[in-house]
Amino acid sequence: MEMEEVDCPICKGSRGSPLHMEGSFQMVRCPSCQFIFLNPRPTAESLHHFYQEYLPEEESSIESWKKMMKPVFHRAANLVHQYRRNGRLLDVGTGFGFFPVEMKEKGWEAVGVEISRKAIDYARGVLGLTIFPGPLERAALPENDFDAVTAFYVIEHLSHPMAFLRECHRILKPGGLLLLRYPHSTPIKNFLQFLGIKNRLYDLPAHLSDFSPKVIQQCLERTGFEKCQHSIGGYTLPGNLGKRTSSVFFGSFGEALFHLSGKKYLFPGVSKTVLAFKEERR
Ligand SMILES: [Zn+2]
Repeated sequence: MEMEEVDCPICKGSRGSPLHMEGSFQMVRCPSCQFIFLNPRPTAESLHHFYQEYLPEEESSIESWKKMMKPVFHRAANLVHQYRRNGRLLDVGTGFGFFPVEMKEKGWEAVGVEISRKAIDYARGVLGLTIFPGPLERAALPENDFDAVTAFYVIEHLSHPMAFLRECHRILKPGGLLLLRYPHSTPIKNFLQFLGIKNRLYDLPAHLSDFSPKVIQQCLERTGFEKCQHSIGGYTLPGNLGKRTSSVFFGSFGEALFHLSGKKYLFPGVSKTVLAFKEERR
């Protein structure tokens, strides 16, 4: 992969100070906005080629991927449904298309954007979905068109997260809802480093950044979103037993603390879900 050194993708203020190494890859933290990102990182062009071939083809892997994501999709579908009963939904980085299927069952008109060719073929051919080839910015979708936009485990892969959020904002109707699901690994990374335990939690160089709820809220507000609501939003069920055990353990622990604290405490280190709304027309 071709690599490049970049300024902070959020505030352009600095190239960041070293935070963690994973193999030869380095995560840095921007001293001005606290954003944590990979630097140097693969160029956008080499990432695009990588994602075109991303995601497995075999039936068994697709099945285990579906099982892994099901609890998170289910929680997210209910969350969206609390605010909007139906309408047009776009799922960005939809993969095989299981989330749009879940929303169609709830009566939504749901479509997707995806880069992986194998995933597009499956979502169109097997599930009969409408899928636009990604990335989102290239799909050139009309303005003020969607009631909801969702993106599961997408934003941490993007070279230009702010441009992505602006595009989500542009295609949403006024009052439309954005749901993002993202990993939040730095607190565990810090803890494991303290214990001297080597790990590849950041999944570099596939992930380009690690958002915290605070940073993601700043990004959302700067791109015109309001009324941010954070939650734990369930946990994935990976096929690997060790990963599944820790996902269930920390995920349910995080959920429990979140509810016990009156939906205030966001257990650090586990994946999070955030909802935000495009301003209503005044
Ligand atoms: Zn910054």
